[in-house]
Amino acid sequence: MPEHGVSILMYHQVGEFPPMAAHRSTYCDHRRFAAQMAWLHRLRYRVLRLDEALAGLRGERPLPPRAVVLTFDDGYENFYEYALPVLARFGFSAVVYALADRLGQPSAWFAADGRSTPPLMSASRLRELRQLGIDIGSHGLTHQRLAEIDRETARIEITDSKDRLQQLLGEPIDHFCYPYGSHDDAVVDMVSAAGYRSAVTCDRASAFADADPLRLPRKAISFGDSLAGYAWKLHMKTRPRVDA
Ligand SMILES: [Zn+2]
Repeated sequence: MPEHGVSILMYHQVGEFPPMAAHRSTYCDHRRFAAQMAWLHRLRYRVLRLDEALAGLRGERPLPPRAVVLTFDDGYENFYEYALPVLARFGFSAVVYALADRLGQPSAWFAADGRSTPPLMSASRLRELRQLGIDIGSHGLTHQRLAEIDRETARIEITDSKDRLQQLLGEPIDHFCYPYGSHDDAVVDMVSAAGYRSAVTCDRASAFADADPLRLPRKAISFGDSLAGYAWKLHMKTRPRVDA
């Protein structure tokens, strides 16, 4: 079984932002993003599609020692503007987790914190991304904390988002991302019953061969990460913490 695991990196927005003190893990300056991707390329990190990483973790294919998966939550239009050209330059794949009921709309859930609500990509944009080789996963319908809402609503968020994205893209949607990382056993069971093959959390660790594919940890990349800090996050082989 592969021992080195996979670093699944969590990005949100990529773009031009003023300096900030809070919510830094959901922003990445586009120049830093470009430097991070160049660094991955230079250090010969292997950016895998999520399916490739999962097959590697299961032992079905070799898992390179420096395996990375790039994930982008929420599906902001600034992914298209800033991240995609850099990914294309290096031939890197990525997964975008989209909100099936919020396509082309503002990211309105930020308004509660007084934050700006940048637009999310439209349906046609997602189709375009798919043609460019970017994988699309589901982040639910409307960005809810699934472990904190009533079970039927959570189930609809999980199943209907899958159906809608499948209809939109004409292919299976196999990968899920828990909004805010919010999940519990019942939510994980719903994700399994809906037919997803993987789901990512916000638990900050590497994913190893013994990882539950429906509770995959990620490493959050923060606005404040210097290239040295980024390298350290990639290098760290933290194991997921085990909840008592
Ligand atoms: Zn989100």
